[in-house]
Amino acid sequence: MILLDGRKTANDIKEEIAVEVSSLIAAGSKKPHLAAILVGTDGASETYVSAKVRACKEVGFRSTLVRLDNKVLESDLLSEIEEINNNKDIDGLIVQLPLPDHIDEMKITQAIDPIIDVDGFHPQNIGRMALNLPTYLPATPAGILELLGRYNVETAGKHCVVIGRSHIVGSPISILMARNNNPGNCTVTLTHSRTQNLKDITKTADILIVALGKSEFITTDMVKDGVCIIDVGITRVRSNTTKSGWKLLGDVAFEGVKNKCSFITPVPGGVGPMTIAMLLKNTLKSAKRVVY
Ligand code: NAD
Repeated sequence: MILLDGRKTANDIKEEIAVEVSSLIAAGSKKPHLAAILVGTDGASETYVSAKVRACKEVGFRSTLVRLDNKVLESDLLSEIEEINNNKDIDGLIVQLPLPDHIDEMKITQAIDPIIDVDGFHPQNIGRMALNLPTYLPATPAGILELLGRYNVETAGKHCVVIGRSHIVGSPISILMARNNNPGNCTVTLTHSRTQNLKDITKTADILIVALGKSEFITTDMVKDGVCIIDVGITRVRSNTTKSGWKLLGDVAFEGVKNKCSFITPVPGGVGPMTIAMLLKNTLKSAKRVVY
């Protein structure tokens, strides 16, 4: 079994980005600049945004964090986005999700100029992804492709089973794994909460991508020998073995399942760190104007 080490791979990518940033600056360009909007004070969102801001610093990017009150009007959030869209110094804009219930997430996603939509969630960028045109790939699926690619996991002709159909992970990764690309060229089965006889399907997977958010859902009896597993799930559970009293679990019962795998990502340290690295990569792409 080979562990797909997302922490190490993400660090390699960040080093590569830092080198590129140094040469851009040496050639007279400005620092790539990522702006993030955080609405409210949700603990998990705070953690994710501060990790993104810290990562910007590590690779030599500039970052701007705009904090808005939980009760901010949708119209005020839209005005803030418009202002950033028109700021020529900014290369990337992300609005940390989820947003409070009174704000229409889809409206916000569509308000971001596709040219600086480095989360890759705008319908225009999702369409470009589906058509295999240059775009910003959504960061988590892009991180999965990068891991598969860097570890030379053979994907062409394989049966890839995806569990979960969210807009940010399950749906886009199912499209990407089916595209005529490397990694890609899989025969893809997309499964979700209404799928029947899930185990019959997962047992036929050569590559299993799990993104449903239920800890240790995939057990040894659900996979075949030699499977490659990408575990996207992150669930925080109580633990009396850690100092903090919490630990993170993936969607796969790692200890048993790993023995049947050719490759597997750990949680934490698998897909999670890759997501931030790919956001940085998208921001660099925007600064270099290689997409638009
Ligand atoms: P989500 O929470 O929006 O949706 C869950 C999906 O799972 C749905 O499409 C649903 O149909 C499917 N599902 C639920 N129960 C099922 C069942 N019994 N059988 C089959 N399918 C079932 O999904 P999400 O936002 O993609 O998040 C999934 C997990 O991935 C969460 O734990 C989340 O925290 C994690 N996540 C991690 C990263 C990362 O960077 N590592 C990024 C995004 C999400």
